[in-house]
Amino acid sequence: MQYEHGIRLEHVYQVTAHAKDLSDSECGGAKHAVDKRQMMAKEGETSTVKEPYDAYTTIRDDYGNLTLDRFLKRGGVGIFRRFIYWVPASGTGSINRNFQHCQTLSSSLGGIKSLHHLSDVGIPGQLRVRTGSCHRCAGCQRGAFDLCDNIRFVGPAEVITLHPKEKASIRLGRHALSDLGVKLAGEAKEHELLAVELSYANEAFMLCEVVSTAGVYRIEKDFESNLGNFKSGDMVLDVRKLEPVSAGSSHYEYTEKVFPIFVEDIRKRRMAEHLCEADLSRRSTRIAGSSGEKKIYVLSAAGKSTILKLISAEDSVFDRRDLAPLAGSTN
Ligand SMILES: [Zn+2]
Repeated sequence: MQYEHGIRLEHVYQVTAHAKDLSDSECGGAKHAVDKRQMMAKEGETSTVKEPYDAYTTIRDDYGNLTLDRFLKRGGVGIFRRFIYWVPASGTGSINRNFQHCQTLSSSLGGIKSLHHLSDVGIPGQLRVRTGSCHRCAGCQRGAFDLCDNIRFVGPAEVITLHPKEKASIRLGRHALSDLGVKLAGEAKEHELLAVELSYANEAFMLCEVVSTAGVYRIEKDFESNLGNFKSGDMVLDVRKLEPVSAGSSHYEYTEKVFPIFVEDIRKRRMAEHLCEADLSRRSTRIAGSSGEKKIYVLSAAGKSTILKLISAEDSVFDRRDLAPLAGSTN
């Protein structure tokens, strides 16, 4: 908020009263819009606002639909435009809060749980904190915490710098990943190695080589395959599959299996960077079952981990901006 709008936020826990601010009338108006919609249900009907998402659509449609006409009718005074955002608490589009906490804040303050008053100081990564909150005395109302009448209860304020170990990110849904797949398919070159998401319980992804010189094409006639039902018009790419020499192995060999894949399932390009030829002079028993003539390739642990981060939409924790470079997309 501070960064984009110059608005500073203050978090206060355990207060005996609260003040009024510019946002109060706006939030009140939003609540009123939801109330009004709920009251519209007639006798015997249930309100159309049942879940938080319904409250969001109501606020968006009834409260956020300001028009230029109305603004001009008011003589250009008041709210010009409202932006309403929906951030679900969990699942696709939610903020992934499951990241490592900041390093210990300060030796004198202890952990975050001891802090009950946190103020934005307008510098990213910095906060002014106190162990207690005060919002009543003249000093605190001006933000001059040093002059607080209750300083012996609330303690001195201290500016701390946060050192997050990871950054927050947004969970990506299948839709965003599909868009990425289409983009990667367009960029893929013949003989390039790709990672493709599979929906089998025992096979989360596969490695394959692009074999079609024509690149992406559309299916002309419906047909069924192990990968799913292809419908006329589906965008596909022809590939040759690499298979692990045994289930779960990171050692792969080329097969003669050539088939089309849905472009939406492509998760990563340039997989050759993560594969190296196995040294067969020191064959482990794990790969002993494979044919002696074929070359065996080893997928690096880092390569595998990157692929796993790019699949299974519910648990993908990458920001849209981070995803394309990770997937080997050029922009
Ligand atoms: Zn005070």
